[in-house]
Amino acid sequence: MRRLFQFKGGVVLKEHKKDATALPVQPARLPPRLILPLKQHIGNPAEPVVAEGDKVLKGQLIARAGDAICAPLHASSSGTVIAITDQPVPHASGMSAPCIVIDTDGEERWRPREHHVDNFAELSAQELRGIIHDAGIVGLGGAGFPAAVKLDPGGRPVDTLILNGAECEPYITCDEMLLREHALEVLNGLLMMRHALHAKRCVIGIENNKPKAFRALCEAVRHSDADVEVVEVPTIYPAGSEKQLIQVLTGKEVPSGGLPLDIGIVCHNVGTAYAVYRAVELDQPLISRYVTIAGSVAHARNLEVLIGTPLGDLIEECGGNRDTLHRLIVGGPMMGTAMHSDVVPVVKGTNCVLVESTSHDVPLPSRDAYAMPCIRCGNCADACPANLLPQQMYWYARARDFDKIQDYNLFDCIECGCCDYVCPSQIPLVGYYRYAKSEIWNQEAEKRQADLARERHQFRDFRLEREKKERAERHKKKRSAVTQGGSDDKKAAIQAAMERVRAKKSEQDSTPKNTDNLTPAQQKAINDADQRREEKTATSPPDRPQ
Ligand code: SF4
Ligand code: SF4
Repeated sequence: MRRLFQFKGGVVLKEHKKDATALPVQPARLPPRLILPLKQHIGNPAEPVVAEGDKVLKGQLIARAGDAICAPLHASSSGTVIAITDQPVPHASGMSAPCIVIDTDGEERWRPREHHVDNFAELSAQELRGIIHDAGIVGLGGAGFPAAVKLDPGGRPVDTLILNGAECEPYITCDEMLLREHALEVLNGLLMMRHALHAKRCVIGIENNKPKAFRALCEAVRHSDADVEVVEVPTIYPAGSEKQLIQVLTGKEVPSGGLPLDIGIVCHNVGTAYAVYRAVELDQPLISRYVTIAGSVAHARNLEVLIGTPLGDLIEECGGNRDTLHRLIVGGPMMGTAMHSDVVPVVKGTNCVLVESTSHDVPLPSRDAYAMPCIRCGNCADACPANLLPQQMYWYARARDFDKIQDYNLFDCIECGCCDYVCPSQIPLVGYYRYAKSEIWNQEAEKRQADLARERHQFRDFRLEREKKERAERHKKKRSAVTQGGSDDKKAAIQAAMERVRAKKSEQDSTPKNTDNLTPAQQKAINDADQRREEKTATSPPDRPQ
């Protein structure tokens, strides 16, 4: 029996989980159109390998991972790529981002199988990670970090692999239903991840408000005789948060600003384990996931939804009214994000679609509430599971003192919303922390841009200076070559001229060759000329005295 520990703070919430667990999970209706964002993970967007007009098969690669922190993307169903364009994506800002849009053909034709793994234990850790990477698997607990990267400890020892089945947020039941229906597959996925990590031990943590899922898991472990512990943890929000679950199960705290791997622990979500199992055993990439549809719908339930399905289609399928939508939240009421539109698609990290209509109010903490001044009651600090001082952080966020707020470990805030929930003044505290974080990220991004621009500018100056020097050097060399070469040429020219003069002179000094065989007339002309010269010489005046 494992000893359990407590984390500080936390709150007990109404669960609202019964409705969506009443019905078994079934596949959602095939939507006529799938919208697949190229970035559904932490890291750079995937790069399309298809073009408009291409026919694609279910499971076919449609966008590849450009670098290590990225996940490839696959067609969730067969059909035709009709566009690669910006579309609204599930983000708090309502922003659009590049997506591959596929019109489905209704045939659900799979691509040919690419691998068969008879025994995953015979694969190396690297080979296993390769399959997981190629299947486009990211953390399905919401963080969206590429799973293959998280399964590579980089040579650091992993003592414990924890599988997170706590699912502590109200309304969300997709992990619970997955464990109830596919406990054995989840367990097999866990063993595959353990093989990739060479983890010494495995523990599955599950909140004690999910007895059916707990029993199914225990049965699967008994059946497979796996060396895996299944542990029930107290139902207190946010026990399902990674750091808090680690603390409850091991008593260890993840250091501020650190990773669980720093204390020899890796934590994955149960949905990720199931996706790993399907990728390795069935050669199926991550193209669907369990999603809870809850709140103001006639039939709250869990559906197995193709990635890329618009939220509005799911709301209609569960008997919701798109026309009376007041608020639509992706995720739970505590940590979820309000959407600007129901045309945004389900992505790999979507675990819940929470519908709030004008007629049926879903209790959501502090949302739309009128905030009053802080009365310094300290409730927020008592409830904070990350051991922070929410009230102080709130003041510094309001004052836009982003240096000071970081001194209070803003980035250790897991945005659980406990402080919001207990605040009697109904101050939307988490909103302030999100705002402060995004401002700091923006400032850092701007600083990085400025640093980059300055480096570019400095390099340009250096390059111009270097080119100038190189040019001057080239000119110098050329001049020197011309001067050196010119003097040689000149000498040669003078030499040649002197040779020519000497030759001419020697020719003139030699006996004329044209005085032989003269005709009498020619001889007489010469004689006359000689005589005239002599006469002229005799009559010439003497040289002038010097
Ligand atoms: S709970 Fe609200 S009112 Fe109380 S100290 Fe915190 S921020 Fe102020
Ligand atoms: S949202 Fe952040 S500050 Fe508030 S209770 Fe949770 S961890 Fe603490």
